[in-house]
Amino acid sequence: MIAKKIALVAHDRMKATLISWVGNNKTILKDNVFYTTGTTGRLLKESFPDLALHPLKSGPLGGDQQIGAMIAEGELGMLIFFTDPLSAMPHDVDVKALTRLSTLYNIPMACNPSTADFLIRSPLFSSDYKSLPLDFSTYQKRDLPV
Ligand code: PGA
Repeated sequence: MIAKKIALVAHDRMKATLISWVGNNKTILKDNVFYTTGTTGRLLKESFPDLALHPLKSGPLGGDQQIGAMIAEGELGMLIFFTDPLSAMPHDVDVKALTRLSTLYNIPMACNPSTADFLIRSPLFSSDYKSLPLDFSTYQKRDLPV
C-alpha cells in the first residue's frame, strides 16, 4: 500500500461530520498522511492522536491557499473538503480557488461524505495510481495580444 498525501478540511458546520467520517473509516485511512487546515487539524488531532496529521494555517487565514500551493506543486494526492452549502463564507474565493486547482491538476476531490466514501473504497485508493500526464503547453503557448 502506497501512503497517499490527503488534505482534510471542513467548514465549521461540517467539522463534526468530518470527525465522524474519519472515525468510521479509520482502518482504511490510517496508513496515509494528512494535511489539514488549522482548526480542522486541531480537532482531528484531539480525536485521532495516532493519525499522521499535519495542520497548516486556519483556512480563512491562508490554510486553504497553502493546500492550493501543495496541489500546484504536485504534492497532494487527494482533497477531502466537506463544504457547508448553507452558509456564506468570508473566504469563499479561497474555496473556489481550491476547487479550481483540484480540477486543473486532476486531483480527486470530495466535497461531501458519500463522494469521500466512494473515493476511499475505490480499488485505486490503495494502488500507486498515476493520473494522465498534465499538459498545459497549449495554454502556455497561446497567442497574446501584445
Ligand atoms: P479551519 O479552516 O479548519 O481552520 O476552520 C477550514 C476552512 O477553510 O474553512
